[in-house]
Amino acid sequence: MTIFHISAECYPIAKVGGLGDVVGALPKYQNKLGQTSSVIMPFYDNKFTKSHTFKRVFKGRFNLGRPFDFDILTLEDNTLGYELYLVHIPGLLYTDYVYSSNDTERFLGFQIATLDWLVQLEQKPNIVHCHDHHTGLIPFMMSQSYAYHKLRSTPTVVTIHNGQYQGWFGHDKIHLIPPFDFSKVGLLDWKHLINPLASAIKCAWKVTTVSPNYMQELMYAANGLEDLLRYESGKCVGILNGIDDKVWDPATDADLIKNYSIKTVQSGKKANKEWLCKEFNLNPNLPLFAFIGRLVDEKGADLLPEIFNNSLYHKNLCIMMLGSGDTRVEQQLDRLKNQHPGYYNTYIGYNERLAHIVYAAADFLIMPSRVEPCGLNQMYALRYGTVPIVNKVGGLKDTVEDFDNNGFGVLHDGATVQEGSFAIYRAINFFNATDRFKKNRNFIMKIDHSWDRSAQAYIDLYNSLNP
Ligand code: ADP
Repeated sequence: MTIFHISAECYPIAKVGGLGDVVGALPKYQNKLGQTSSVIMPFYDNKFTKSHTFKRVFKGRFNLGRPFDFDILTLEDNTLGYELYLVHIPGLLYTDYVYSSNDTERFLGFQIATLDWLVQLEQKPNIVHCHDHHTGLIPFMMSQSYAYHKLRSTPTVVTIHNGQYQGWFGHDKIHLIPPFDFSKVGLLDWKHLINPLASAIKCAWKVTTVSPNYMQELMYAANGLEDLLRYESGKCVGILNGIDDKVWDPATDADLIKNYSIKTVQSGKKANKEWLCKEFNLNPNLPLFAFIGRLVDEKGADLLPEIFNNSLYHKNLCIMMLGSGDTRVEQQLDRLKNQHPGYYNTYIGYNERLAHIVYAAADFLIMPSRVEPCGLNQMYALRYGTVPIVNKVGGLKDTVEDFDNNGFGVLHDGATVQEGSFAIYRAINFFNATDRFKKNRNFIMKIDHSWDRSAQAYIDLYNSLNP
């Protein structure tokens, strides 16, 4: 099957969060299973595009209020494990950021250029797989816009990585969408706005989310789309994300201070922990708790300052925080450094290498999320022998079981300061049961969350649309 994944992010080209990780891995694993799976994404002005060379495979022009020229580029030397197509639209999409507060035209241009190219390909794709709202108008345009009628019978799949963001814009911009039968305008609308995510749910042949539990949750809390999802539930399915076990392998991870396998996990983690503790002035003899992620309410980031402050009172643990986001939370987390020197430190910002080291160095990873469609961090933590402490939501509920209930992680029920602080208290007791903790470490490193199984689940889904 010829499969095109269309996405705003793809690791290692451009990544903001889990979407990048997923789109950077899934096609690779689908190709291993004998498919021809590629990625189409924007050509941004970033480190990756500056340090690689590209060749043009298509040149086009479209209208978006005014004409835009665009190129479809591929990599000269590609070692990614899938073909990569970059949509280069100077003056619209060629930016040094992925997202901004005004992205309607940027991602509309991206989707139009993508379809202008796909529609003229000799060999029609078997599947067009869209990811999140940035590509959410593609199923509508493929089925309704006159210019793309040749793609009308091509099945579309949309994956919701995060239902909170929907890409809404006003009807005053409807003329930017390539002409279609206006009696179908309802397929674009949700509550008097053009809503790309809602449109994708209405028009795609199948709708997936990144964990089964998140699909269930969305039926009751989807930032306004609950009724729509319930109505369309017949075509909705949750498929748990995997992780790229080549990129995320403590035995070969080039970012680590010392590599380790299950056999060498004690000494390996110790070396990474000692380095990190020295670098950030922490005590390596205490259990090390870490947080990695976007500092937003969805992740429960606003709870962290108080949870950390409570937990650090007894001076029997250390905490390392890596993240950025809400400025107020950033400031609160940074200020805590002065109150707990030697026990707490932060790195405010995005740092891919440091994230790898923190997964390896930490004993526990904290995730008090309110919303977590799948969550990759807990799976990376497990692979690196680090015990996840998670709130029981979304994909976290699908992937972590509590150590007091024949499980291997620490679960809490509710994103609150009390629940988060008590979970840390329980985790310290777990850490102090040294033999059990060591055995658990070996056990969690063996849990298989690689993409193999989920990549096949997507292929089965595509096959059901291509009889
Ligand atoms: P989301 O996509 O909602 O942010 P996920 O758990 O799906 O959450 O994916 C988060 C990804 O982003 C992980 O690979 C995580 O390591 C990475 N990440 C988040 N914040 C940072 C940061 N400040 N520095 C480095 N990596 C980060």
